[in-house]
Amino acid sequence: MSWQVTPRISEILKKGGDFQGIDRASALELMHLELHSRETYALMETANRMTREQFGDKGENHLHIGVNIEPCPFNCSFCSLTESAHIFREKVEFPTEKIIGWAKTGEQEGADALNIMTTGTYPFRKLLDLGRHLTAAVSMPLVANTRDVTHKEGEQLLDAGFVGAYHAVRLGEGKDTPFVKKKRVRTITILKDVGLRWMNCVEPVGPEHKAEEIVDLMFLAREYGATYSGIMRRINFRGSLMEPFGMITELEMARMLAVSRLVMGDVPAAHCSHEPHEISLLAGGNLFFPEVGSNPRDGVEQMDAGRGKSILETKQIHREMGMDPLLPSNCFSDRQDRQQPSSHAHPA
Ligand code: SF4
Repeated sequence: MSWQVTPRISEILKKGGDFQGIDRASALELMHLELHSRETYALMETANRMTREQFGDKGENHLHIGVNIEPCPFNCSFCSLTESAHIFREKVEFPTEKIIGWAKTGEQEGADALNIMTTGTYPFRKLLDLGRHLTAAVSMPLVANTRDVTHKEGEQLLDAGFVGAYHAVRLGEGKDTPFVKKKRVRTITILKDVGLRWMNCVEPVGPEHKAEEIVDLMFLAREYGATYSGIMRRINFRGSLMEPFGMITELEMARMLAVSRLVMGDVPAAHCSHEPHEISLLAGGNLFFPEVGSNPRDGVEQMDAGRGKSILETKQIHREMGMDPLLPSNCFSDRQDRQQPSSHAHPA
């Protein structure tokens, strides 16, 4: 291994580290760096410095609450909550009181926001009701994680107390899912139009995905000014159609997350890594999703008995990596509101 970072990589890291953004060709070069190389560590150091410069040492924890379980008829191939996975046979809707209880506990334990996830056919009016109940019960920012919405539905989310919505164009959209990429992007524009913050993650990443498709989604996040972006790897539940492809490692996630941080340039986007782990906090990551309720990558009903981590656990990971989860959240400041879709940021 050379002890020098090559001049070409130094140049990309200098530009990226100055918050100028990097072009698609540079992002692809970074995606292909050898994992155990000085270049990869320099990339991660650059991304880590950028995040700490923009967000300080704050470790963000947004509590994911999966509010229902169903054998979902949309059958996305990476999801355990599907008819085709044959894991869940019955529909379950967690009672409102239980969801409010989870939210209150989350608030007491230091969650910075709530991420309210529904499956594909969950009634929209129930999500709105939940928004109103949660707004009355807790004072954390509410983020909806649901299907594509119309302009009117976007406004209804805002009226019900949500400040943002998580909405990803997934890797393999239209192939591994029955949804149309164009419509997913349209929903993102609707969210921005009505004044909701847009939350994103490049997901669900597996070894079969090409660097080009992954990088394109990083640039989408920059183009539309995501409040946060990041990397979620695909977790193959037992019997998943995706099992033969395997899974990427946490170290590979960290390298990708660092590339995403440089791509975002001057967009003040927090960066999530899912599932929560240490190494991505050295690569520009600062945001975790502790979990309760349902989740599309598990075979059990409640995440506190499955793969999900509790807030106390994710806070401890932040502390171990020199972040402070008790600092006030700076993920929902008005810096993001000023960010508009940016034409200059499109992949070259
Ligand atoms: S990802 Fe959502 S829409 Fe797709 S199968 Fe799972 S719950 Fe249904």
